[in-house]
Amino acid sequence: MTESPSQHAKKSLGQHFLRDHNAIRRIATAIPEGAVAIEIGPGPGAITESLLARVGRLTVIEMDNRFAAHWQNEAESNPRLSVIHGDVLQELDGAVTAIHPEWIAGNLPYNISGPLTAKLAGFNLSGGMVLMYQREVAERIAAGPGSKVYGGLSVLVRHYYDVKRLLTLPPGAFVPPPKVHSAVILMTPHGKTPACSYELLQKTVRQGFAHRRKTINNNFRGELSAEDFEAIAIDPRKRPEQLDYDAWVRIAIALSNKG
Ligand code: SAM
Repeated sequence: MTESPSQHAKKSLGQHFLRDHNAIRRIATAIPEGAVAIEIGPGPGAITESLLARVGRLTVIEMDNRFAAHWQNEAESNPRLSVIHGDVLQELDGAVTAIHPEWIAGNLPYNISGPLTAKLAGFNLSGGMVLMYQREVAERIAAGPGSKVYGGLSVLVRHYYDVKRLLTLPPGAFVPPPKVHSAVILMTPHGKTPACSYELLQKTVRQGFAHRRKTINNNFRGELSAEDFEAIAIDPRKRPEQLDYDAWVRIAIALSNKG
């Protein structure tokens, strides 16, 4: 887009436009040439232009009327580009079912990054995801058990993916600059078949982390007995942040066997 987007950034839509060329290149080149991809929140197109030069088919999902109109206009002369104008939280399930993307990319609006990641982690993509977050959220997502910031999202993203931090960026990499640093997370499929459904894992993790300071025994009181925990080799005195992905899956399966 030719106009300066910084003057028009909408805080309510988490608009901080990326201007760091190295970061743009790293995000775009994480996706193989010719791939079928979705970009969440293209905005004025910092990443979109590089993706369009690279991928085979790109669908962008954008809520802001101005940017959606701009990309709809572009799509008229570019058959490899499609546009979904709406809220990604509402549109994503349908888009993934219809498009079968190999990759999802985006500099995510930070105000919805939690629920959006819980949704994204449930898609078993053959390629992967390359996503920009506030640094604190990226740290939570990439954390392992035992870390203070390890939580529900850290468990959920491991259902289908290996997770690594690709790069960290200072506020000045964006216009307007956010108050915090940002980080790009790369998720690539680990290829192992999960032992329970994503929905069951999500329900279990939500309940298990509802009271972080409580023991696992307390969080599942009335549902799992001492014998149940023994059968799945988990010490019920542990706290939720001490359990790795495999332990959460064992709890999920034990709960579903009860129900
Ligand atoms: N990709 C651009 C870049 O890197 O410069 C813009 C990134 S900006 C952090 C987030 C983008 O997501 C904005 O374009 C914003 O309008 C869009 N957005 C915010 N909330 C959204 C939602 N619920 N659904 C779809 N797009 C949304």
